[in-house]
Amino acid sequence: MVRKIGVLTSGGDAPGMNAAIRAVTRIALNNGVEVIGVHDGYRGLMESSFEPLTRNAVSDILTMGGTRLGSARLPEFREDEIQNICIKNLKREGIEALVVIGGDGSYRGALSLTRKGINCIGLPGTIDNDIPGTDFTIGFDTALHTCIENVDKLRDTSSSHHRCSIVEVMGNHCGDLALYTAISCGAEIVVSPETGYDELELLEKLRYLGDAVHKNHAIVIISEKICDVDALAKKVSLHTNFSGRATVLGHIQRGGSPTPTDRMLASRMGEKAVDLLMEGIGGHCVGIIDNEITSMPIDEALSRPGRSRKKLYRLFDRLV
Ligand code: ATP
Repeated sequence: MVRKIGVLTSGGDAPGMNAAIRAVTRIALNNGVEVIGVHDGYRGLMESSFEPLTRNAVSDILTMGGTRLGSARLPEFREDEIQNICIKNLKREGIEALVVIGGDGSYRGALSLTRKGINCIGLPGTIDNDIPGTDFTIGFDTALHTCIENVDKLRDTSSSHHRCSIVEVMGNHCGDLALYTAISCGAEIVVSPETGYDELELLEKLRYLGDAVHKNHAIVIISEKICDVDALAKKVSLHTNFSGRATVLGHIQRGGSPTPTDRMLASRMGEKAVDLLMEGIGGHCVGIIDNEITSMPIDEALSRPGRSRKKLYRLFDRLV
């Protein structure tokens, strides 16, 4: 039976990570398992930056965005030598197993440690919803709320000025944040890694909406890393009846108090992670599939094909 576990957050931060830290800590302590917080992801393992987590140490963090433990990227963690230093530090501290909250890169680190004898469980923490093995990640719902709140405001002002608002949202290489925002905000066009980007076709659609449908405003939601939205807005002003304006929502999408959905998800996933470690299981990641909390081996999750959002893109098309 495991007596002492660690918990760390790694990669980009996401609202709800604190709720997951709290759940892991409370549930472990309530089962007689000690909990050590590791600062700044895998960097804290390398530098032995540890902090015992008591019940009170995680009071009042449920509602806070960000991560109380800090997060970092440590590319050197891919090296065997660095991993061995981390294992030595973990053993010196008496930490027998670890909960890793982060993205797929963090999962790969968790798998390496498991193979070297420290059972690790991965929890999906990112606003991008781009982690295999789960329908939703911790933080996605909160980021979606932030996007919706902002795009709704842009819609108000766009319709007063016959504008086309082009809004860039995050998502890394996953279009979910763009797609869900576009459906929820009644956007006219969505551009994501899944739809591909055809500038001429986009301008043609906007001309049709302005000239034939007589729309007095239009909203285009675009995933990050696809095009220069400022340049696109200028082209919209030049080649259509709309005045184009670009807005990059940026890092505000990463912040804020987690929504009830993210608090619930983080708490349910935290519980599952502790249960798995207490059963002696490592190298798994936790997910939510069809609203059931599940787990599967990390290597199986990483080799799965991405989820298909065909039905939701079809819904979007039918709503425009
Ligand atoms: P995000 O979705 O926010 O990008 P992530 O967990 O995918 O989160 P990465 O920067 O890819 O973010 O990975 C976080 C950390 O995990 C890295 O800095 C590194 O320490 C560790 N890591 C990433 N890939 C590997 C790997 N192949 N083997 C071991 N450790 C890894």
